[in-house]
Amino acid sequence: MSITPLMPVYPRCDVRPVEGDNCHLITEDGTRYLDFAAGIAVNLLGHSHPGLIGAIQDQAARLMHVSNLYGSPQGEALAQRLVDKTFADTVFFTNSGAEAVETAIKVARAYHQHVGNDEKFELITFKNAFHGRTMATISASNQEKMHKGFNPLLPGFKYVDFDDLEGVKAAIGPNTAGFLVEPVQGEGGIRVASKEFMQGLRKLADEHDLMLVLDEVQCGVARTGTLYAYEQFGIIPDVMATAKGIGGGFPMGACLATEKAARGMVFGTHGSTYGGNPLAMAAGMAVMDAVANDEFLAEVRAKGERLRSRLEQFIGNYPDLFESVRGMGFMLGIKMKAEPRPFMQHLRDHHQLLTVAAGDSTLRLLPPLVIEDAEMDEFIEKLSAGAADYEVPAES
Ligand SMILES: *Cc1c(COP(=O)(O)O)cnc(C)c1O
Repeated sequence: MSITPLMPVYPRCDVRPVEGDNCHLITEDGTRYLDFAAGIAVNLLGHSHPGLIGAIQDQAARLMHVSNLYGSPQGEALAQRLVDKTFADTVFFTNSGAEAVETAIKVARAYHQHVGNDEKFELITFKNAFHGRTMATISASNQEKMHKGFNPLLPGFKYVDFDDLEGVKAAIGPNTAGFLVEPVQGEGGIRVASKEFMQGLRKLADEHDLMLVLDEVQCGVARTGTLYAYEQFGIIPDVMATAKGIGGGFPMGACLATEKAARGMVFGTHGSTYGGNPLAMAAGMAVMDAVANDEFLAEVRAKGERLRSRLEQFIGNYPDLFESVRGMGFMLGIKMKAEPRPFMQHLRDHHQLLTVAAGDSTLRLLPPLVIEDAEMDEFIEKLSAGAADYEVPAES
């Protein structure tokens, strides 16, 4: 037998972490890595946050799981917190980002079908989007590398260029139910939508009675310097998926909606065994306690600005390697003139710095939001050393 016990769907590298220490990871062999990947935008409180650890430990000892057939004081409290802090009137808890997006797709379809508009089932989505790995969420993306081997896809998605409002207008038809969009494309390469585009989608949704569905699984939960990124575009969505950072490392997600948008989500239409269980709710509440306040968010914006201006200065030293810095808050990307993956590997293997490669030749920088100046200094040192001794591979 040659297949590995872990199904071999990930090209795993040799870094084998066994312990976390705030913004660092320590591997089996004792090597320390500076973590600018943060579990891909998950560990926003780092790896040693006492509030998060304590909340999970206490809740684990009291009550980990009960069925959603019972009342949920823990779920009500976190849902109320999210309702208070966002556009939403109601929340469905999931265990992952893909499930949160799946729920959002169902909410958008049910909005129309609940009143008999059965023909309005199609969501307009955007090229190079990433919405997860379930059948519906891969169908929502045009990326063929995610489709291969899994046909047929789920019908009901139409792909348009990101940030192309004219393209959206042309794509709207009798079957259109709404739009599904990441305000900042993460995996697609830290591409920030323009304000005009996001406001244009809102306007089109209002004019045609369509659902504006945001995928803030990566850019949400304080990552961009506001609790959710949509706040910075001057719009509110009808439906939004959130996950990744919301549990700070505990697997959970949520679909948020307005009362109007959720009109089809009545008894029996949706469910999840684990979704919103007391342990997940304790983790989510600890994260909200830490990040959903003006002081924390202002810190993220200020620190993100400092890091960004240092990066902008730095890339000027290597005009052949780097093109530009983009993103918002601590969701930053360096657009490269070379392939980002070998450079990411070089930083990892020779300078103990963890980053994430993304689409559109972009290196993603997603540090824990609790990072301090000392770690930013360490980051710039490692990045500078990595750029200085990097040789672009010949065949790339
Ligand atoms: C990661 C991600 C998802 C999928 O989340 P999972 O927890 O891996 O299912 C969906 N949308 C976006 C924008 C993401 O970055």
